[in-house]
Amino acid sequence: MLQPLRTDRSLSAQATSDCILVVDDSPDNLFLVQTILEEEGYQLAFAVDGLTALEKIRQSPPSLVLLDVMMPGMNGYEVTQKIRSNPNLPFIPILLVTAHEESSVVKGLDTGADDFIRKPFDMDELLARVRALLRLKHSIDAEQEIMRQREDFVSRLTHDLRTPLVAADRMLTLLKKETFGAVAPTAQEAIAGIIRSNQNLLQMVNTLLEVYRYEAGKKTMTFARFDFEELIRDVGEELRPLAEEKGLSFELIEVTKATDWDGKIMGDCLEIRRVITNLIGNAIKFTDDGFIQIKIKLENPDSNRQDSPYVCAIIQDTGTGIAAEDQQEIFEWFRQGNHMRAGSGLGLHLSHRIVTAHQGRIEVESELSKGSTFRLYLPVNANVTGA
Ligand code: ADP
Repeated sequence: MLQPLRTDRSLSAQATSDCILVVDDSPDNLFLVQTILEEEGYQLAFAVDGLTALEKIRQSPPSLVLLDVMMPGMNGYEVTQKIRSNPNLPFIPILLVTAHEESSVVKGLDTGADDFIRKPFDMDELLARVRALLRLKHSIDAEQEIMRQREDFVSRLTHDLRTPLVAADRMLTLLKKETFGAVAPTAQEAIAGIIRSNQNLLQMVNTLLEVYRYEAGKKTMTFARFDFEELIRDVGEELRPLAEEKGLSFELIEVTKATDWDGKIMGDCLEIRRVITNLIGNAIKFTDDGFIQIKIKLENPDSNRQDSPYVCAIIQDTGTGIAAEDQQEIFEWFRQGNHMRAGSGLGLHLSHRIVTAHQGRIEVESELSKGSTFRLYLPVNANVTGA
């Protein structure tokens, strides 16, 4: 049997879940727009001035706002501005409606509206613009939903992976300590290897979780004054055995003795610790002979900006180096370059995000086969900001 042709009415029936807020101070215009849009099956809400419109939008965000520009009190540009500056609202397309002689399309679009239609309007043109903006709204909503699901998936996944990894780490450590009975030396070695791999995996999962917290804007930081030099010393001493195991010389040069700076900076100590661990850890990982040298000095990243002091930690190694074409990319996530060493390619990405949230900067200078120098600049008096 032949299927009936899809008519305009069947198209409009799809539109019924979309609510359009029509804002106009003229009852005649409201009535005209109501007749056109109701005919198409849209749900409608109305407001006769800007303030009422904003309140309605706040209470129940519509799928689209059809907004008259010239209204007494708050005009359409101001309403648009207020909608766009409210971070709690989802994306709502705004279609501005104006008379021919009235002011600028440019101003409306620059203020944040998505489209413009002139009065008196052609009915088909109005409907086509409404449909186009609703398509835009639906695709943005769908994209945001995918992002939300992705975040949800990653945070569940990382959480579910962490639990067994932590449990395995505890059990393996007990096993190695012979808590459950004697362990042959060859089995000891094997267990040590499994513990290392397990811990690498755990660290990777933790880093992934942190990266997603930043991506989702859910990272909160606790800013306080802490001793930056002491932190570097702590991390340095913690990692020194790894360098010495590889036969590398490991040198830490501090700065406070030479200045009147007390060695403290403003920031989130745990997050900065993560950055320094990543930078020194990488220096050790990618260096097979020679040295690792860590220097701290007071130095601004930009010689023109001397208004507020910065501290600079310089981590230099004589390792593999990084090809010039890879030097920018290593701060993007999952970028690892061409090597066979363990890692996730997430550490520098996360470090970069943490440092940016502290109004700081990481710079790299490197030459293949000669080594790399990472410079970590942090303001001594960073403002508290979100990530
Ligand atoms: P990972 O070390 O886990 O791979 P990172 O994000 O910390 O991830 O580093 C990204 C990449 O940058 C590394 O895979 C490596 O190619 C390069 N890299 C970082 N630090 C160094 C270094 N000190 N020497 C040589 N290459 C480095």
